[in-house]
Amino acid sequence: MITILSQLKPFRFVLVKPQGKEAFEPGLPGYGFGDPKLLQHLKESGNYGVLAGHEYALIDTDDPELEAEVRAKLPATFEVASPGHNGTHFYYRCPTVEASKTIPVLDKTREKDKWNIGHVRIGNGYLIGPGSTHPNGKLYLVKQARPFAEITEQQIRAVLAPWLAEKLARAEIEYGKQLGFELSFPIEEILNLSQFKRSGNTLQGPHPVHGSTTGTNFHVDTRKNVWYCFRCCAGGGPLQLLAVLERVIDCDQSDQLRGEDFKRTRDIALAKGLIEKPSKKKGKEPGPEKKREERRNPWKPVTSPIPCEDPAALFNALVEWLKRYWDFKDQRYYQLCAAWIFHTWLIERWRSTGPLYALGTINSGKTILLECLAETANRGIRGGSMTVAVMFRLNDAFTPALLIDEAQLYNREEWAETQALINEGYRKGGEVWRCETGPEGEIIPRSYKAYGAKYFASSSPPWSALNSRALTLHMSKNTRKIEETLTPTFEAEGQQFRNLLQGYRDKYLAAPMPDEYPELETIKDYRTREIGKPLIAVAPEGEPRQAIISYLKTLEEEHQTEEETSYEADLIRALDACTPLDGKVTARDVRDKLADVLGEVEETVRTGDLGGEVLVRKVNEAALPKPRTIMGLLTTFGFRKTRCGGKSLAGVLWDQGLLDSLKQRYGVVK
Ligand SMILES: [Zn+2]
Repeated sequence: MITILSQLKPFRFVLVKPQGKEAFEPGLPGYGFGDPKLLQHLKESGNYGVLAGHEYALIDTDDPELEAEVRAKLPATFEVASPGHNGTHFYYRCPTVEASKTIPVLDKTREKDKWNIGHVRIGNGYLIGPGSTHPNGKLYLVKQARPFAEITEQQIRAVLAPWLAEKLARAEIEYGKQLGFELSFPIEEILNLSQFKRSGNTLQGPHPVHGSTTGTNFHVDTRKNVWYCFRCCAGGGPLQLLAVLERVIDCDQSDQLRGEDFKRTRDIALAKGLIEKPSKKKGKEPGPEKKREERRNPWKPVTSPIPCEDPAALFNALVEWLKRYWDFKDQRYYQLCAAWIFHTWLIERWRSTGPLYALGTINSGKTILLECLAETANRGIRGGSMTVAVMFRLNDAFTPALLIDEAQLYNREEWAETQALINEGYRKGGEVWRCETGPEGEIIPRSYKAYGAKYFASSSPPWSALNSRALTLHMSKNTRKIEETLTPTFEAEGQQFRNLLQGYRDKYLAAPMPDEYPELETIKDYRTREIGKPLIAVAPEGEPRQAIISYLKTLEEEHQTEEETSYEADLIRALDACTPLDGKVTARDVRDKLADVLGEVEETVRTGDLGGEVLVRKVNEAALPKPRTIMGLLTTFGFRKTRCGGKSLAGVLWDQGLLDSLKQRYGVVK
């Protein structure tokens, strides 16, 4: 039975069915802490909801980025971990609130049914309370038992609104770039803000098209050049606002402006002189050759190759350069990244290339590394600056170094296609298929070469297909002061490195190289050796190679631990615990042993009917896969299907040799 924390005394609670999420009593009657009806319900394993009421605001976040934003911008408070999408519930005292409402937090840069990334619950809004059980069987648990911090509703909106609008504005600018337009112009140029009230960084006033009852539903952040409408939960950058003002779209349709609507708005902006046609672009005047090169290719160019005299000196210079801009605790990362950059310049030489996978929260250095790679990798292309279709074509034609930030993949489809590209991209000859729409709307399947260097920045660990091949970097910043990236100095240095590395490429692309490296023999796992080989090949002997080997050993251990703890390893343990009968074992037996491996068995001793003690074994059915799923996995491992006993149960033929080799592979020891 759940006991409600005494810290939650000030709240009222609603009754929720066991393992459910919906309050079931009509009218949502709220019960006080200690109310007998509430206690009785909890006794019957019911869940409960915490009503926000008029004194509190409860924010639930289903998205790591949103969670990070709340944590960074709002005061530290009481937190509950929600096991659904690994979300977090933040509890705030928010006494200014009068209305009863739930404000959805929508990220409109995503696919429509994925928009909702959280809620702010006020009044009759409630969250499932800590101690309750999620439909997936896991518990809601207190994450931080801090006192409730006090904030205002205004403060919540002031944090969420600009953040969401900024994301949309960025998506729009990127979209414009793909079409060759610089879509940025100050919002003040299309909207008179002189009557707006200032609050912090934002100006607030009535919505210019649909008005406002409160007079402040429309906000503009002039510093970030974004706007937000609270009524429609909409917002974005200048072009989206122009589209709303010119009645091309309605305020609530300000999610990405596309197709004909985009063209119309763009033409209005052109006619008003807010933006310029790409060809009329002013500014720096590169020579005609460079200009052509820049227009043709989305990577930073090599202007004039410098012959490579001393590759080791160049390598060390690159390490030192990375150290100036990128701050890392793990010193081996500098050598590793320098080697990764070098290997991109000889990309055609290798049989495989491990994706560089930067794993960390926001502000952990993922973007800085991406910027450094964009300067120095061979044909470094930022994946987020183009559509997936363009990315596939470029990869197919040029084998560039694709630099992708997960946060810039806007929908599930892009995400899935990018994943496939990375999955197949590690080995030479890898290809991916995608379907494209022909001129008559027909679907044309096409294969693309997937091979090429990939950098992927993410806030979650590599997916299972990638796990054993990713060069994972655990991003955690040190506190050393670093220089700013994207400055003219940074870019000039990048240009110099590209010229030098082109010289390196010219000299070594076809030069003889050893087939084997003795250093690599200390790495046991062949996949780790495979992805480590190009890095060792380009790294100078001595310290750089030692650092990379040491990194690879850590990586190998990580991969091994991952495999050992994986589901497959659990299943092999279960199989290993079975006793074959007539050279066969049933899926049911394996499942029963799996329950032991997973600790999903409760054993109690009771007195039997005829006296004596009886062991009662109760398996948690819900936590186990179906026998059919187990059969599927066993046959994937290579076991042969069979029928067992007179009951004709599904099972597999016992194969001790296969089992032994699987045990070794997954590190299963008895
Ligand atoms: Zn609106």
